[in-house]
Amino acid sequence: MIRFFDLQRQHRTIESQITSALSSVISSSQYLKGEQVKQFEIAFADLLGSKHCVTTANGTDSLYLALKALKVSAGDEVIVPAFTWISDASAVSMCGAVPVFVDVDKSDYTIHRRNVEAKISSRTKGIIAVHLYGHGAPIHDLRQLCNDRKLFMIEDCAQAHLTKVGDNYVGLSGDISTFSFYPTKNLGAYGDAGCIVTNDSILAEKCRRLANHGALVKNDHMLEGINSRMDTIQAAVLLAKLPFLKTWNHQRAINASLYNLYLKEISQLITPSVRADTIHTFHIYAIRANHRNELKAFLAENGIQTEIHYPAALPFVEPYKPFGHTPAEFPVSDQLQHEILSLPIYPELTEDEIVYICDKIKEFYKK
Ligand SMILES: *Cc1c(COP(=O)(O)O)cnc(C)c1O
Repeated sequence: MIRFFDLQRQHRTIESQITSALSSVISSSQYLKGEQVKQFEIAFADLLGSKHCVTTANGTDSLYLALKALKVSAGDEVIVPAFTWISDASAVSMCGAVPVFVDVDKSDYTIHRRNVEAKISSRTKGIIAVHLYGHGAPIHDLRQLCNDRKLFMIEDCAQAHLTKVGDNYVGLSGDISTFSFYPTKNLGAYGDAGCIVTNDSILAEKCRRLANHGALVKNDHMLEGINSRMDTIQAAVLLAKLPFLKTWNHQRAINASLYNLYLKEISQLITPSVRADTIHTFHIYAIRANHRNELKAFLAENGIQTEIHYPAALPFVEPYKPFGHTPAEFPVSDQLQHEILSLPIYPELTEDEIVYICDKIKEFYKK
C-alpha cells in the first residue's frame, strides 16, 4: 500500500530531534509564548529574507489576520483564485467582505494579471495570489498591477515554503504573506500552526496584536483581536524540522522529475509545467488525466492512494453557489475540477514506488 502521505516515515528520520524538542518544552512548561516561538519567528524570517514573522494558530487565521490588518471590511471586494483551498475565500467572507473569483491560468494554475484586471471594480481592495501546489504565481506582474491600481497583495504561501520566483523566495512581494504549517505541508508541525511574514513593521505589529487579543503585552489591548497563537510545542517541532526543509524540497523535486520522465509518453495525461523563472517546491504533484475518476479508482484497487486538489472549484462549492456563477465563466478551473489528480510526492517516497505507480497508470490507459 502506497499512502498519499506517510508522516511516520519522516518522523523516523528525525525522531531524536523531535523527542528532545518536545521534552524541552515540557520541562519549561511554557506551553504558550515560550522561547521557541520567538526563536522560530527569527529563524523563519531569516531563512526567507523577510523582516518580520508573526506566528499564528494556522494558515486560515493567517489569511484572516492579514485581511484585518489591511482593513478589509463590509462592502469591500477581494480578488481570489477560483481554484484553490477554501480558506482564501472564507477568510474574506469572515471580514464581511466579498471574495471575487478569477479563473486561474492554464499554464500553471495560478492567477495572472490579465484575468485579475478584468475583475477589478471600485470596491476592490486587494488580491490574494496563491502559489498553488508549490508553483510560484507571477507575483512581479501582480505586484505591478497592485501598485498601479493601489491595491494590496497578499501571497498565500501555504503550499510554497521556499518556492522561488526570480531570485527570491515567495512571500517577499506581498504586503503581507501567509503560511500554514499543517502537518502535511512541506514544512509541517505536529498539529495546527501558521504564520504571516511582512517587511512592513506597522503591519507586523498590527498582526501581532490582532492575533493576541489586541495586545502586545498583557492587558495592553489597543484594539480587539482574536486568540490565534502558535503554541510552543509546535514552534519547537518546526525549529527542529526547519534545517531539513531544503533537503526535503529537493527530494520532492527529484520525485517530480522521475514522474515527469516515466509519465512522458502517456498521451492521455498532462504533467505539471514549470514557468522558467520559478523553482517549484511540489507540495502537490498534480496531473491532468482523461477518465480521472476511473484512473483514481484503478490506482486505489492497486494499493495506491491519490487525492483530488480540488474536486470542485470554489464558485461551485456550497457557500458560493448563491453567487450564481456558471462553469463557462471559469473555463480552466472547470476543466481542472474534472481532470486534476494528485499523486504521492512526499520526500521519503522511493523510486521503486514511483516506478510502480507509473506502471499502473500505463496499464490503466492500455486497457
Ligand atoms: C493549507 C492551506 C491553507 C490553510 O491552512 P490551515 O493551516 O489548514 O488553516 C490556506 N491556503 C492554502 C492554499 C492551503 O493549502
